[in-house]
Amino acid sequence: MGKCMIIGCGGVASVAIHKCCQNSEVFDGIMIASRTKSKCDALKDKLQPNTSTVIETAQVNADNVDELIELINSYKPDVVLNLALPYQDLTIMDACLATKTHYVDTANYEPLDTAKFEYKWQWAYREKFEQAGITALLGSGFDPGVTGVFSAYAMKHEFDEINYIDILDCNGGDHGYPFATNFNPEINIREVSAKGSYIEDGKWVETEPMEIKRVYNFKGVGEKDMYLLHHEELESLALNIKGIKRIRFFMTFGQSYLTHLKCLENVGMTSIEPIMYEGKEIVPLQFLKAVLPDPASLGPRTIGKTNIGCIFRGKKDGKDKTYYLYNICDHQECYKEVGSQAISYTTGVPAMIGAMMIMTGKWNKAGVYNIEEFDPDPFMEELNKWGLPWEEDFNPVLVD
Ligand code: NDP
Repeated sequence: MGKCMIIGCGGVASVAIHKCCQNSEVFDGIMIASRTKSKCDALKDKLQPNTSTVIETAQVNADNVDELIELINSYKPDVVLNLALPYQDLTIMDACLATKTHYVDTANYEPLDTAKFEYKWQWAYREKFEQAGITALLGSGFDPGVTGVFSAYAMKHEFDEINYIDILDCNGGDHGYPFATNFNPEINIREVSAKGSYIEDGKWVETEPMEIKRVYNFKGVGEKDMYLLHHEELESLALNIKGIKRIRFFMTFGQSYLTHLKCLENVGMTSIEPIMYEGKEIVPLQFLKAVLPDPASLGPRTIGKTNIGCIFRGKKDGKDKTYYLYNICDHQECYKEVGSQAISYTTGVPAMIGAMMIMTGKWNKAGVYNIEEFDPDPFMEELNKWGLPWEEDFNPVLVD
């Protein structure tokens, strides 16, 4: 049916690429283009014998718009799926504009020198994408991603208005290391060491990092401590879902993770301010990334499950209603299927489905859109087919 160029070949990309190769009916061809070509070639060697999707590989520096344009013009993909880092979002969007190619990503743009992620930079491309007649689908991972699809689905089928959303992201997996992050350490640590925030009555309320803690008993996992974080989908969901009074995001962390993080913070290792070391400028957080385990190597060691979903409260036919939509994913099952742990899996599968929605024309409108602005039904259907089945609960325990 079409061709997709995937940029990046890390943990998330590897899962998306496995899934594209399982879905050859839609993905006739893929190009894996990343900074380190040997990783792309290794994946091609592993997957090509068992798929009819034709795999090509290329080296690309996604910070360089001209290089990207040249590569896109030579391969002519229908969609570019950006699975590099948030820093590359704008250069890849520029290249998509120049070549009139649809764009999909899983994380919003973040400037390298400020750990502050928000949509304003990417939303500024709305008119340009409309005029070019192409789609940018923002945030097609799990959170953001499936959480937005869940919200659109709840709005469409279960509520007249949704007043409260709590997004609960629980990772009950254990990799056996005292400290490791389960996706890109730099992005992960920037996210969790930032101040927390949530939206109430249309305004952001800021908290100290990890200031708000709750305990929740997750189906499939059990009781876990979870902490309120700032998360990018809060910004778009508060605008796109009718009737929102408050929206919050919680993620579970174990005590060992938090103690290590505090210590690293206290000694300055999580800083993104460059320092001079032996005559060379280094960024402490980037150095820390280099000494931590590669998230891609956690797959074989991680046991347990993730449970990620949204609790909605609102009104239907004048009555109060609560509704919980979630997915449970097993780290070891993911590893058996695609050689990755569940965090990469729960992001890589929706990334493939997002690209698929655009390639099949099921989602087809020119401009820059967050995922909840599309019809959730075809996406929900594909989640069940491609390994992330969802469950619903009409009487969930609420978070106070
Ligand atoms: P990884 O660090 O494992 O992979 C990133 C990949 O991008 C690597 O292959 C890296 O190349 C490549 N890359 C980095 N910079 C460039 C560049 N300038 N040019 C070309 N390639 C580049 O990260 P993850 O797979 O863990 O995460 C990928 C994305 O997914 C991130 O944006 C992350 O924020 C997002 N994410 C989203 C989630 C969601 O639920 N929405 C959840 C988890 C992650 P090299 O191999 O050379 O290092």
